[in-house]
Formats: sequence, structure tokens, C-alpha cells
Amino acid sequence: MMKQPAPHLTAEQWLARVFADGRPRHVGTGWLSGVLGIVLGLLALLAVLCLHFPEYLTLPELRSHYPLEWVRLAIDIGLLAAMALAAVSMVLRRKKALGVAGLVLAGAALGLGAGGVEIPRGQVSAVYLGLDWFVLGVLTTAAVFVPLERAFPLRSGQGAFRRGWLTDTQYFFASHVLAQVMSVAVLAPAVAMGEALAVPSAQTAVQSLPVAVQFALAVLVADLAQYGIHRAFHAIPFLWRFHKVHHSVEVMDWLAGSRLHLVDVIVTRGLVLLPLVVLGFDQVAIYAYLALVSFQAVFIHANFAPRARWLERWVAMPRFHHWHHGAEAEARDVNFAVHLPMIDLWFGTYHMPEGRWPAGYGITGERAPEGWAPQLVWPFRRGA
Ligand SMILES: [Zn+2]
Ligand SMILES: [Zn+2]
Repeated sequence: MMKQPAPHLTAEQWLARVFADGRPRHVGTGWLSGVLGIVLGLLALLAVLCLHFPEYLTLPELRSHYPLEWVRLAIDIGLLAAMALAAVSMVLRRKKALGVAGLVLAGAALGLGAGGVEIPRGQVSAVYLGLDWFVLGVLTTAAVFVPLERAFPLRSGQGAFRRGWLTDTQYFFASHVLAQVMSVAVLAPAVAMGEALAVPSAQTAVQSLPVAVQFALAVLVADLAQYGIHRAFHAIPFLWRFHKVHHSVEVMDWLAGSRLHLVDVIVTRGLVLLPLVVLGFDQVAIYAYLALVSFQAVFIHANFAPRARWLERWVAMPRFHHWHHGAEAEARDVNFAVHLPMIDLWFGTYHMPEGRWPAGYGITGERAPEGWAPQLVWPFRRGA
């Protein structure tokens, strides 16, 4: 009898095959401890690598501010916790893969010197990754959004390992690790162009305002710019090739918002920053805006159903942006703003049917390839 060729497994399916066993995952089954053990073990390992190669793996802007003794302590505690959690998982769960993986990762971190690694001094590299930024990003974002999604879930049975989770994790990783590329490609041109286009009288007027007012104005100006660029990404077929990567998410949670093509990020972020630089906003106001947008861009994708209905008209909340991703016809080209839904009201693209959420998400009629790299080249492929 002919042997059937093995079906091609995606990385996500392969991981599911290795780690999942179809058994319950609630507290006390060793699933949560196993997953946490892997996450902490991996973060500890990455942090140890940062201590070994700070000039290549960490951001110079950040590493000069680290309280090193606390970082070392955190690494040691993290890897001990990873080992303990992995052990708990191995006791509780029949399939040992989760526990073994956590132990291997934490063991590797320990073998490489854990928190006690001597830091090489005096070396500088012109090119570097932001692995430290990624570790901090995972810790802070997960600390905020995991409890939020667990406490008030929109779809409670969804789970963290929904379809596309690995692709979106790769985006989260890339957008943090490639921080230098992002700042060179986004900030530098926006600042250079903004200074060339500066309108001195407008700058004087803006700078005479209190910083808090400048911040509020910056959010409005940035969201107006973002609205226009976002609409262009939907309306112009060449730009849609890039933006549809973002719309290819079929399950919404805090991680889903990370899925943005590099061209989409660079063009949008750059053009949103441009008017802020042209109008001469105070740096504090610009940084406050950047902090807000990095929170809100994650928040509006979350699997989170806030009860504050009255607020939905004033502040972009998950239901507002979930409609932007809705698969149904009524959700086409609506809700482009990121901060202020009123901008969509002004331009006639506001869509918030009373109390309803979209039934599904994604682009109709086609399927994006899985993974960050295949999606990076997807827009350039003929017929995409
Ligand atoms: Zn869009
Ligand atoms: Zn989105």
C-alpha cells in the first residue's frame, strides 16, 4: 500500500501537536504552570543573552538607565520561578512536554550564567537589536492586558493560543527587536522633513500653550492625520496590499494589534509624526502622545468588553475598532480613528450599532500566509 505523504504542518500546528493533549486547561491541570514556566524561562534566557552581548542586543537609550542589581535579581527570580512552575506542571500533567520545555529554557539561562553574568564594558556597536525592549514589552503588556481580558472577556472561550497567535507573537517580537530600524525609518525622516516644513508663527502659538493642552491638541492632530492615512490605505489598491495584512487577523485580542506590515507602520507612524513636528509641539507632549498611542493601539484590539457604554462615543474602545475589523458588509470602511471616534462622526464613517459586536473578523475571499516573513513579502507577490 502507498504511504500517504505527511501533510505540511505550520509552525503553530506543530507546536500544538508537541504541547497540546486535548486535556482540560483550567487551573490545577498543570497547563497554566507549564505555559508560564516556558514564558518565564524564555524571557530569563533572553535577558541573560542581553547581559552577555549588551552592545548588540540592547538599546543604548535604555541600557544606561537600568538598575543593574535589580535586573540581575529579577533574572534569578524569574528563572527559579520558571523551574518551579515547570516542575509543578510535570507533576500535574500527564504529558510532560510543557514542563520539559520550561526546564530546558530555564536550565539554559542558568548554564549561561543567570543574573551573575559579567558585563563586557566599553564595546559599542552602530547596529543593535532591542531584545531588552522585547522582554520589557512582554512583561508590561501582558501584565496589563492578560488580567483585563480574563476579568472582562468578550469571547471567554477564545484562549491565548487562538489561530494566528504565533504569527502575531512574531510581529510583537519584530516590532520591539527592530526598534533601531523603526526609529531610523520613522523618526529621522519625520523630524528632518518637519523641521524643513516648519511654520514659525504656528510653532510660536502652539508653544505658548500649557503642555497639557498641547498634549490634547497633539492627540487630535495626530488622529486626524492617522484618519486620513488610514482611509488612504483602504481606498488605494496599492496601499491596501500592505494594510490588508493588518485586516487578516481573524481572532481579536491584545496581541492581534501587533500585526502590521513594516511598510504600513513606517508610512503611518512617519506621516502622523510629521504634523506634530511641523507645528512644533513640546517634546513632552509628543512623548505623552506616543505613550498613549502605544497603549490604545493594543487596547482597541483586546478581547475585552468594557461596560462603560457612555465612554464609547468619546474614546476609541475595543467595540469601536472591532467593527473596523468586522467581516460583515456593514463593517466595510468604517471607524478609522484610533483615539477619537468623533472624527469618524465628522466624516460620516462612524458605525456603532447599539450593543452589538461583529460576528467575525478578517478579509473576505482570501487567506493571508502564516508567519511574519511570508506576510512581509505577501504584498509584493503578484496576485496578492
Ligand atoms: Zn484598517
Ligand atoms: Zn486594527
